[in-house]
Amino acid sequence: MKTKKSEKLYQQGLEHLVGAVNSPVRAFASVGGNPLFIDKAKGSKITDVDANEYIDLVLSYGPMILGHRHKKVQKAITKATKKGYSFGASTKDEIKLAKIVCDAFPGMDKVRFVNSGTEAVLSAVRLARAYTSKSKIIKFSGCYHGHMDALLVAAGSGLATLSLPGSKGVPDEAVKNTLIAEYNNLDSVQKHIDENKDIAAVILEPVGGNMGVVIPQDDFLVKLKELCNANGILLIADEVMTGFRSKFGGAQELFNVEADITCLGKVIGGGFPVGAYGARNEIMEMVAPLGGMYQAGTLSGNPIAMASGIATLSELKKQDPYANFNVVAEKIKSSLLKSGKKYNVDLVVNRFGSMINPFFTKDEVTDFSSAQKSDTDKFGVFFWEMIKNGVFLPPSQFEAWFLSSALSESDIEKIEKAIDASIKKVSEM
Ligand code: PMP
Repeated sequence: MKTKKSEKLYQQGLEHLVGAVNSPVRAFASVGGNPLFIDKAKGSKITDVDANEYIDLVLSYGPMILGHRHKKVQKAITKATKKGYSFGASTKDEIKLAKIVCDAFPGMDKVRFVNSGTEAVLSAVRLARAYTSKSKIIKFSGCYHGHMDALLVAAGSGLATLSLPGSKGVPDEAVKNTLIAEYNNLDSVQKHIDENKDIAAVILEPVGGNMGVVIPQDDFLVKLKELCNANGILLIADEVMTGFRSKFGGAQELFNVEADITCLGKVIGGGFPVGAYGARNEIMEMVAPLGGMYQAGTLSGNPIAMASGIATLSELKKQDPYANFNVVAEKIKSSLLKSGKKYNVDLVVNRFGSMINPFFTKDEVTDFSSAQKSDTDKFGVFFWEMIKNGVFLPPSQFEAWFLSSALSESDIEKIEKAIDASIKKVSEM
């Protein structure tokens, strides 16, 4: 496998970019080795600057659910660029995308578009505080909600990848209202409720995707919502990853739970920077200009991003790939387990819809501490062997693999072969 051009760009990138990347996980820091630089992508495949082609299971960390450069999305974007790039004023497409989003989430009467998942979450937290006139927030360890100060504690994603407990530069005051509970553990939530009267909201990823894939057990989500209701606490579902990916109506539709505030991102922009937060009318009417909670954005509701979001969600609704995602993901899970058994490598595979994650451990993974038991050295060896066998994975144990509807039968066979070769390699460590 050639990496000469990636290596050269990496060295050049180090001069003016931090670690030659614009987001930490892209640095490949936890898998040993330097980042690959990408040239282009089409359908299920992504190609690096050395012309190595991979089946893409990163999909820009989720957004490219239809695969890259889907014809209809490309057409919509091209058409939008001919009208202008940004106006700082309202457009018809914002209304259209808002309707698609609100129709998919029954708990959402109104939505506000922002530019990233981080912005969606920080706005949702402010809104919960504004609505309840309370300050404290419960989050779960291992859940990642973007990089706002108050939630950068016990967070998954890049912090888990780099084994960081939190971030430098976050003052104590910024996290003094953040309470940490354990995922799948209602008692840990109840304890905070018993000890604190000032809780505005509980925020969680309804399916953990940033500590690897961790699934809510039994009726964890339903019971959590009941606990919130009984105590005047809002439930914020951070569906930045799961929204329109687990199901058109997100994990909430699958688990039959209606959050008070929902955060979205990734898929709703189809690869362009879009986030959103939404809720029922009485909550959203707190937001300026209707109410006193301020939140704004120069590029929010950007016309190109809206066009991409509308085309992506419309095509997704038409394709309805969710049943097939389950079939494909189950196949990949079976391959992982089969090869694990064949080569005597301990493996636990969690999957939820089109999100998959193998952990190199014996024990069930149900929360952040069990996820952290995975042997990340083994993951590193596995990762590079997958790359050599033409499959692009997130370069971290703690990031989910994603499927796109562009995957073909032959792609799936190739993934299965790569898995077998990569687990064999792990067994030789
Ligand atoms: N919430 C969740 C659940 C996420 O997975 C992410 C990003 N991976 C975010 C929030 C932050 O989104 P962004 O990176 O777009 O700011």
